[in-house]
Amino acid sequence: MNILVTGGAGYIGSITVRRLIEKGYNVIILDNLSRGIKFSIPENIPFINKDITEAEEVIKQYNIDAVIHFAAYAYVGESVENPELYFDNNLMKSLVLLEILRRNNINKIIFSSSCATYGDPEIVPITESEKQAPINPYGLTKLLFERALQVYKVSYGLKFISLRYFNAAGAAYDVGEHHVPETHLIPLILDVALGKKEKIKIFGNDYPTPDGTCVRDYIHVLDLADAHILALENLDTKTGFYNLGTGKGNSVKEVIEVCKEITNKDIPFEIVEKRAGDPPVLVADYKKIKEELGWKPKYDINDIIEHAWHWHKELENKHNIVAISGYFDPVHIGHIEYIQLAKKLGGKLIVILNSDKQCALKKGKVFMPQDERKKILEALKYVDEVFISIDDDATVCKSLVALKPTIFAKGGDRFSYEIPESKTCRENNIQIIDGLGAKIQSSSDLTGLKQIK
Ligand code: UDP
Repeated sequence: MNILVTGGAGYIGSITVRRLIEKGYNVIILDNLSRGIKFSIPENIPFINKDITEAEEVIKQYNIDAVIHFAAYAYVGESVENPELYFDNNLMKSLVLLEILRRNNINKIIFSSSCATYGDPEIVPITESEKQAPINPYGLTKLLFERALQVYKVSYGLKFISLRYFNAAGAAYDVGEHHVPETHLIPLILDVALGKKEKIKIFGNDYPTPDGTCVRDYIHVLDLADAHILALENLDTKTGFYNLGTGKGNSVKEVIEVCKEITNKDIPFEIVEKRAGDPPVLVADYKKIKEELGWKPKYDINDIIEHAWHWHKELENKHNIVAISGYFDPVHIGHIEYIQLAKKLGGKLIVILNSDKQCALKKGKVFMPQDERKKILEALKYVDEVFISIDDDATVCKSLVALKPTIFAKGGDRFSYEIPESKTCRENNIQIIDGLGAKIQSSSDLTGLKQIK
């Protein structure tokens, strides 16, 4: 069965992809990398770096049978500040995708919905029949798309399952939770444990909860991934909406306590203002999915934090330097993801520019759309060192040996196997990652490592 996974480079998406592959599905990933990272995509599976609105070609090419639609923005706070982003990305583009599916006779879709569709629920634990009255634009966009699914079911016989996630957390395989910027509680607490942040800010302590801090139902990302596969397997007989949570809530303070125990580190906190759009308590009643699909959670909050902690520590040691080349070429906006990753990992980030003569800023000025250029210049803030160099494969290789990065994110329009840097990377235990592939000649190069920052 050929499954198109939108947002497959994201946190939940990429873990579900690994699970699907294990179960023998053919997976095709469609992700524009606006929030996902290319690192998270397993090797050797088709990855199309495009918007969901451009899904038609992919669907035809790969003979898709069903879609799992993860691609979305998912920051509650951002959705309050910039609702238009959420209406555009989560709703309008998803509607375009839905229409593409209809036109191409694909009538199976699993949708990543959210408990944010309930708003501030009257009855907790929340059942699927609780009134849906979102209190932030993020929840509203998820709810509106759910409504569209229902309409397409009635009018066109669409088979869908919408999974209303509670708080996804934890790590699995080599993927963990991190966003740039990070706003989620558990990764932020673990950053404090790692000494990357001084303290965790608790958003309000006078909520109507036992210790005054917000209560959430944290669900392990692997439990979530498994639910998608069960949903897929049951689409012929089941259609509708299911809560995905553990039925147990933990307050912000309780989560901090569990993190303290597991990491064995002190975690200082500070009480600050409430965050807009945060309901006091969100805990799932998951009876429906248990009874109808036979799903139940395998992991609890201790497992979640243990796995997340392991991942955060491992990555910290693993990727401490990233070298990027071809950085200012127009199509290398994708490299920003590596810059952001390096920033998140607290590693040192080295950028290798092609020589001024060759392209670098000059070419950037000519070819690069202004908004992309702005994003790249913005990302440059996070770079520790920048070198300029001339175009010559051999000198790139020499420089890689000299710099010994953990990761080399290559630029240029050739494949990894075509360039001599690959051999150098293999011999020096440097992981090589393809950039987006330039349409212009720009193999990465440096001689003399002239440092400009
Ligand atoms: N939270 C907090 N401090 C932070 C981040 C989050 O107190 O720095 C709280 C937040 O108010 C919410 C809970 O932790 O009650 C979970 O927030 P998160 O952003 O992880 O997920 P959300 O519930 O918004 O999906």
